[in-house]
Amino acid sequence: MLNPKQIRMLELLDQKVDKCNLCSLKSNGTAIPHWTPDSQYAIIGEAPGANEVREQTPFIGPAGQILKEQLWKAGFNSKDFLIINTVQCRPVRGNANGKPNETQIRACQPYLRKYLKVVNPEKILCLGNYAKYIFTNSLQGILRQRGHFMDGNVGDVVYPVLFTIHPAYCIYNREEGIELLRKDIALFKEKTFERRFDEWLFSEDDFKL
Ligand code: URA
Repeated sequence: MLNPKQIRMLELLDQKVDKCNLCSLKSNGTAIPHWTPDSQYAIIGEAPGANEVREQTPFIGPAGQILKEQLWKAGFNSKDFLIINTVQCRPVRGNANGKPNETQIRACQPYLRKYLKVVNPEKILCLGNYAKYIFTNSLQGILRQRGHFMDGNVGDVVYPVLFTIHPAYCIYNREEGIELLRKDIALFKEKTFERRFDEWLFSEDDFKL
């Protein structure tokens, strides 16, 4: 359960994301990271799409349905998670959803780092190559690197991280995709880690708007 100070800091971060102008994506719309007082794990996705910026919340479109169904089947609830993307605003390609570039991911990384530090998740599930990029600096190889935990650095903190496919993969490769996602989420559920901080290190000043 997050304490009142953590909740206050997350509320401040939400406001900062809402007002952010650190990169050119802002004008396409924003999805504020999802969290609840019960968030004890984290999920990192790629980027919000049209559905997400309409509702200002990550993973509410078709990929989100697939993800949430698999989480639910494994015994999780989405309230257990901080759900955040590599970028909080929508990349576009023409009128369609696009991919974030490395500059945009880097510009948004302070938010990712702070949300993670405040929530202090026990473990992180990374969806697809863009989320994997945060930890490996490579936009390839998710199918080879998925399926086991590794130590992943964000800023000065190391988290237990499990790479898996992005649920959108299941839209085009239904059977294979669902099976991979199911297996990886089962492992994510099964393996537990000590929480590494009881105290965490931000002061309110870090979050002044
Ligand atoms: N795909 C993502 O990676 N993130 C979202 O928020 C929605 C779809």
